[in-house]
Amino acid sequence: MTKTMKAAVLHALKTPLRIEQVPVPEPGHGDLLIKVTACGVCHSDLHAVDGDWTPPPVIPLIPGHEVAGKVEKVGPGVSGFKAGDEVGVPWMYSSCGQCEFCLAGMETICKAGEATGYTKPGGYAEYMVAPAAFVGRLPAGTDPYAMAPILCAGVTTYRGLKRSMARPGQWVAIVGIGGLGHIAVQYARAMGLRVAAVDVAPEKLALAKSLGAEVVVNGAETDPVAAVQEKIGGAHAAVVTAVASKAFEQAILMLRPAGTVTYIGLPGGKADEIRASISAITNWELSVRGSNVGTRLDLNEAVAFAANGLVKATIRTAALEDINAVLEEMRQGRIVGRVVLKLA
Ligand code: NAD
Ligand code: ZN
Ligand code: ZN
Repeated sequence: MTKTMKAAVLHALKTPLRIEQVPVPEPGHGDLLIKVTACGVCHSDLHAVDGDWTPPPVIPLIPGHEVAGKVEKVGPGVSGFKAGDEVGVPWMYSSCGQCEFCLAGMETICKAGEATGYTKPGGYAEYMVAPAAFVGRLPAGTDPYAMAPILCAGVTTYRGLKRSMARPGQWVAIVGIGGLGHIAVQYARAMGLRVAAVDVAPEKLALAKSLGAEVVVNGAETDPVAAVQEKIGGAHAAVVTAVASKAFEQAILMLRPAGTVTYIGLPGGKADEIRASISAITNWELSVRGSNVGTRLDLNEAVAFAANGLVKATIRTAALEDINAVLEEMRQGRIVGRVVLKLA
């Protein structure tokens, strides 16, 4: 008889997830079967559920890509892992390993890549399967609930900050202090950067301040561009994790000359477009770049910061059964820090 497990399953876009019993997956060649301990709820999961992006997710879908768990069973052909090892599963489920981008260490932009909890079943379940080659190793004994958000929010903002080119001592504006942004503030501080935090909710700015942001700006109360230019003379770099296109437009104008803005947030749908000043970008030699999750090397480095206590997600745990309420809270912008589903 096939063993079954509890999972939260999306059957149609824009409908609530259903808590169901589904078969426990079998690890294929090169795969690990992972017993999920914790899975963070990323705004990308909400975009998946709401069908904000093109192409839409593969349905029926078990979302979730901030997974911390333990190896339950090792599939054929896997070496270097054994049952009980602590592992994490990120958004990058796999990449082809052969294309020009994979060969150049840019596996995050492989066109043949698969995505955990989007094209492949993810961690809103008691068990999941993932290729051993792409699974992150977590140091034994770390708190799996605090570690789970590092698998997406952590690695993504860490890479985004590296791509921002900001050097120690320089100012970075973190625009959007949600699940990603509050962790970005911490990586920035750990990397020796000075932080100006921008959001539209006072409780998120209070969190940013407690995590080391020297300047906080409420974009709902003041013009955030003028505030950042006045308070710090413009930012050397900006990292945008907000979910409103306006914030992406504003972030370009928060830069000082020669500054770089790195886009991470993906509002999607009608909010996928911005208007920008060509002359501002040209005359001041500004750079606008994207950053897509992180490579396996980025992940190892991002995990090391957390394991060394330099970065710690502010979390609240919830049961899998609460997922639809959590997604609704996120839709309304009411979550401070990250919610992590407790699977075990
Ligand atoms: P979240 O909902 O936790 O946080 C979003 C934050 O943006 C909230 O704090 C909200 O108050 C703030 N915000 C909204 N409008 C704003 C505005 N006008 N100015 C400033 N702040 C504003 O979401 P999250 O989990 O942190 O994810 C953020 C975005 O990043 C999502 O679009 C998600 O899909 C995307 N994402 C991208 C990648 C990538 O690899 N590029 C990886 C993970 C997540
Ligand atoms: Zn994510
Ligand atoms: Zn590739």
